[in-house]
Amino acid sequence: MRKLILVLGDQLSLDNPALAGIDRAQDCVVMIEAAGESTHVWSHRARITLFLSAMRHFAEDLRAQKLPLHYVALQPGAGGEPGLGVQLRAVINERRPARVVICEPGEHRVLELVKTACRDAAVPLDIRSDSHFLCSREEFAEWAKGRKELRMEFFYRQMRRRHDVLMEMGEPAGGKWNFDAANRGSFPKAGPGALPQPPQFPPDAITRQVIALVGQRFPQHPGSLQTFGWPVTRADALQALQDFIKHRLPTFGLYQDAMWSGMPFGWHSLLSAALNLKLLDPREVIAAAVAAWRDGHAPLAGVEGFVRQILGWREFIRGVYWLDMPGMLEANHFDHQRPLPSWYWTGETDMNCLRETITQTLRHGYAHHIQRLMVTGNFALLAGIAPRAVHEWYLAVYVDAVEWAELPNTAGMALYANGGRFTSKPYVASGAYIQRMSNYCNNCRYDPKIRTGPRACPYTTLYWNFLDRHESVFKRNPRTALMAGNVARLTAAERGAIRTAAGNILATIA
Ligand SMILES: Cc1cc2nc3c(=O)[nH]c(=O)nc-3n(C[C@H](O)[C@H](O)[C@H](O)COP(=O)(O)OP(=O)(O)OC[C@H]3O[C@@H](n4cnc5c(N)ncnc54)[C@H](O)[C@@H]3O)c2cc1C
Ligand code: SF4
Repeated sequence: MRKLILVLGDQLSLDNPALAGIDRAQDCVVMIEAAGESTHVWSHRARITLFLSAMRHFAEDLRAQKLPLHYVALQPGAGGEPGLGVQLRAVINERRPARVVICEPGEHRVLELVKTACRDAAVPLDIRSDSHFLCSREEFAEWAKGRKELRMEFFYRQMRRRHDVLMEMGEPAGGKWNFDAANRGSFPKAGPGALPQPPQFPPDAITRQVIALVGQRFPQHPGSLQTFGWPVTRADALQALQDFIKHRLPTFGLYQDAMWSGMPFGWHSLLSAALNLKLLDPREVIAAAVAAWRDGHAPLAGVEGFVRQILGWREFIRGVYWLDMPGMLEANHFDHQRPLPSWYWTGETDMNCLRETITQTLRHGYAHHIQRLMVTGNFALLAGIAPRAVHEWYLAVYVDAVEWAELPNTAGMALYANGGRFTSKPYVASGAYIQRMSNYCNNCRYDPKIRTGPRACPYTTLYWNFLDRHESVFKRNPRTALMAGNVARLTAAERGAIRTAAGNILATIA
């Protein structure tokens, strides 16, 4: 055999560069369902189902193209199989290829594991650059070289120019790079009103088989499979994209940050999982959004806000991941060591915002960005939870969770664990922010305005405690000086009461 082409579970595109130049007579594709990939964090069952089902559907696509395929399926009833690396080594030993070819894996751990398997089998490994992304790892490293601070905004502007997205005669469309000010609305008191429901993709025979397998192999894993309706094929994903552009993009921007009880999806695209599995190409997603603006179907502010997420944040986050790995895994700027509260896995807490966000996460494998950043992430930072434990939770519970996207968002954005490598200040907020952006506080036993006492909102107590602890550092940073000024106005007695109240809350976390 000439080439053994390894296709990983998040590389499910016929444009995968590892497939380029495949010769049906001499080469073979290998795909491996390794149980360890579902258990190295305590994965939500919907996340496992999505990966396995999408892999099996992609295998059908490869067979339809008459490409030779060696597919190692996870077996019902089995257990204790070796990990991905050992299984790959076994296939290499069996097939004896002259070389192994792979597109850059999305995860540092997997890259190392594939390299080790090939080294141990003494077979050359050809790693091809991942053309799914608009910015290669090398281009990002070049952009970052010599910069003291990495700021997404400057990267994004360069990407807009380089790829000629939302540009007119060399200038940003609408005369501004950033329409964020128009994209931070909260809902009126009566709530969001009628919402366009995102499409559901009822499980077909393959997905039903996977659901049964996951139920049998991973019965103790968190999360429900009852509502599973994620796109598992490229055709599904394209339909999900069209539906978003038609029904939700026009209002996406305005309510991008808003949260509401019983509203898991809002106007969000729900495209992250399909993008991360490579069922969709980011270029086609961006092009569809820009076309909607040009056709007068969606306003520029919302379209710019959406494009910023894909062309800006998504590419930036991936660039930072590869720049800072493996160190990012251990980053712990504040030396936070508290364990993750057990209710992160059940939603059983009195704090309504957390209960709603976690319950919806367990039900759907989804929460939108502000729920992740300002509800679960904000709490973890304020409560001093160890970043590694928080990382393992985020990597487990979302259907879109892949380490290159999850870790920088968790360590860098939510927890400030990398000391502000790409954020100018920690994203901390009291209960007042959650009250402004949602109706969660209306049904909570706590009051976001109260700092101490039995009805004090834990976010508010812990927020003031956090400011109190870090006042001297916050004073020196212009972005946080205002917060430090607020805490400076507290009397010694008020500070003492906050410290005691915070200590009491933290003592109950376990
Ligand atoms: C702590 C934390 C963990 C996260 N973990 C993941 C993860 O594992 N995988 C993941 O894809 N996203 C992750 N995100 C980013 C973001 O929350 C999700 O991409 C988004 O909520 C997915 O929902 P959507 O497709 O409806 O997004 P939309 O709001 O519709 O946004 C459109 C698209 O932009 C991209 N995007 C938006 N924000 C980001 C971002 N900050 N980083 C990377 N891409 C972004 C996604 O591809 C998304 O589909 C995380 C954010 C936080 C704060
Ligand atoms: S009062 Fe505090 S804990 Fe309760 S929902 Fe509001 S922010 Fe969350």
